[in-house]
Amino acid sequence: MHLFLAAAAVAALSFAASAGHAQTIYPIDRAEILAGARFDFKVEFPGLAEPSNLAVTVNGEDYLKLFGKRAAFIEREDGQDQSALLLRDVSLPRPGLYKIRASDGMRAREVSWTVYDTGPRRAKNVILFIGDGMSPAHRIAARLLAKGIAEGKSFGKLAMDDMPHMALVATAGTDSIITDSANSASAYATGHKSAVNAMGVYADRTASPLDDPKVENITKLVQRKLHMAVGIVTNTEIEDATPAAMLAHTRRRAEYDRIVEQFFAVKPDVIMGGGMANFLPRSAEGSRRRDETDFMARFRDAGYAMATTAAEMTSLADAPATNKLLGLFTLGNMDGVLDRKFLKGGTVGKFPQQPDLTEQVSAALKVLSRNDNGFFLMVESGLIDKYTHLLDMERAVYDTIMLDNAVKLARDWARARGDDTLILVLADHTHPIGLVGTIDDDMASVPNVPLRERIGVYARAGFPNYPAPDAEGYPPRVDVSRRLAIFSASLPDHYETFRPKLDKPNDPTVPGKSPGTFVANDKYKDAPGAVFRFGNLPAMIKADVHSGEDVILTAMGPGSDRVHGQIDNTEVFRVIAEALGLGRNE
Ligand SMILES: [Zn+2]
Repeated sequence: MHLFLAAAAVAALSFAASAGHAQTIYPIDRAEILAGARFDFKVEFPGLAEPSNLAVTVNGEDYLKLFGKRAAFIEREDGQDQSALLLRDVSLPRPGLYKIRASDGMRAREVSWTVYDTGPRRAKNVILFIGDGMSPAHRIAARLLAKGIAEGKSFGKLAMDDMPHMALVATAGTDSIITDSANSASAYATGHKSAVNAMGVYADRTASPLDDPKVENITKLVQRKLHMAVGIVTNTEIEDATPAAMLAHTRRRAEYDRIVEQFFAVKPDVIMGGGMANFLPRSAEGSRRRDETDFMARFRDAGYAMATTAAEMTSLADAPATNKLLGLFTLGNMDGVLDRKFLKGGTVGKFPQQPDLTEQVSAALKVLSRNDNGFFLMVESGLIDKYTHLLDMERAVYDTIMLDNAVKLARDWARARGDDTLILVLADHTHPIGLVGTIDDDMASVPNVPLRERIGVYARAGFPNYPAPDAEGYPPRVDVSRRLAIFSASLPDHYETFRPKLDKPNDPTVPGKSPGTFVANDKYKDAPGAVFRFGNLPAMIKADVHSGEDVILTAMGPGSDRVHGQIDNTEVFRVIAEALGLGRNE
C-alpha cells in the first residue's frame, strides 16, 4: 500500500512538473542526427492548443521552410485535452547545429539537434556482433574455460578481445539509467536514444504502440542509400528485441505479430533464428499468431529459400543461386550450445537439428557476400542474457564461447578478403554478475560442511578443474569438483544449489500466491548443499535483472579507429555510418 501511495505521489508530481513544463519535442534535445537520415518530427503540447497560436521555428525560421511540408495538427490526442503537431518522414541533408523552438502562444520550449555528415565509405561490409547481456564476468569465464590458465597466465585470448580498438559504451535510455535489449539495440541501429521496450521510435505519450515518432534504422539506410544486403542472425526468437530492433519500429517489443510483418516489409536477405511460432497461421500447430496469415508461405512466395534444419540451411547457402534465406529452427528460442552439444537438455529432444551460431554465420556470409554492394550483418548470441536472468551461469558462459567462435570465424573470413569489413563486438547491457572464486567440493580443510562454506575466495579459489576444452573451446563437462563461482548481485528469493543444472536451464522462481509475485522454486530445496537465499529485489521480479554499467566494445577493420575511450550507445551507430559513408553529402 505504501508503495502504491508513493508511486501515485511521484506520478502526480511528475505530471505537475510536465504540465508546468512546456512541450515535448521529438527528436529530443541534444539528439545527434545523421545527415539525410529520415525521422518523424513531433511536438506534444501539454494542453489543448489553438492552431493559430502555434509557432514552430528552426534556427529562427518557420519549420515549413526547412522541412518543405506542413505538420498535421492533432487537436485532441487519444481523445484527451492535449494537442500535437506531427510531421512524418523528414530529413536534414546539411550538417550543423539546429535550434528548434515550439510555442503554443503561452509556453515555449527549445531543443538543439546536431546533424553530422560523414566522410567517404571505407568499409565494404559491417558485421555487428551482440552478446546480449554479456558482462565482463561472462568474458573472463569464457576465456578461463576456452583457453585455460596456469600460474595466472592465460593460454590465449578470446577473438573478441584480440582486436585493436576498444571502448566503454554507456547504455542508459530516455526514460531510465537501466536499459533493456529493445532500446539499447535501437540506439545501435538508429543513433537515437529510446525508452525501455521501444525500438526505432521515440516513445510518445499516446497509447498505441505503433504510432510513435520513428527514426530510420541502419538496415533501411544501407538498403536505401547503398543497395547493400542485410542479414539478421540470432539464436533467440527472431522477433525478440535485439534482432527486431535492427529493422522494426514499435514502442512495445512484445508486438511479435507486427514485428514479423515488419520483417516481411523490409525483407532482409538473410533471416535466421528461432521464433517460427509467429510466422505460422493461427490454426497451425505451435502457432502463436493471432491471425491466419501464413508468413512461411509469404516469404517463400517472395523468393526466399527456406530452412528449418542445420543441414537444409547449409546446403541452401552453398547453392550459388540462393540470395534470400529464411532459416527458422525452433518455435521459440533456440537452445544454447551446452544443451545442444553436451547435455541434450532444454528443447533439443524436440528440435534436434538446430544449427550452431557459427554455422549460421558461415551460411549468412556465403549468401550475403553474393551482393556486390556489400552487406550489413547483425549476429546475436542472445541466450547469454536469458540464462543469466535465470542464474544459469554455465549455460551463459558456454554461449559466450559460442559467440567468440562466431567472431573468430568472421575475423578469419574478413582477413582472407583483405580486411574490407568493419567488425564490432559488444553487449547491449550488463548483468550485475561477478566472478568471486570457485566452488570446491573437495575443500579438504573443511570436511562435511554445506556447499556455501566451500566457496573458495582469494588464494583458496585457486583455479577451476574443468577438463581440457575441445577444438571449439568447450570443456566437455561442467559438473567438475572445482567450478567457477559466478554470482549475481540482483536476486529473487531462490534456492542456490552451487551446482550446474544438467537436465534443463535453472528455474529459480515460480509464481507466488499473490498475483504478480514470485517465490523460490521448491524443486531445488532438497538438492544436497542447497541454501535458501533471500532476494534483494521486489517480489514482482522473477529473476536476475539488468544493470547499468557500461559495456565493452571491441572493433577491427576499416572505420574501427573511431572506437576508443568512453562513448554513448548512440555513437556505435555513428561508427557504422562513418565506415559506410552513409552521411556523405550527395
Ligand atoms: Zn535481459
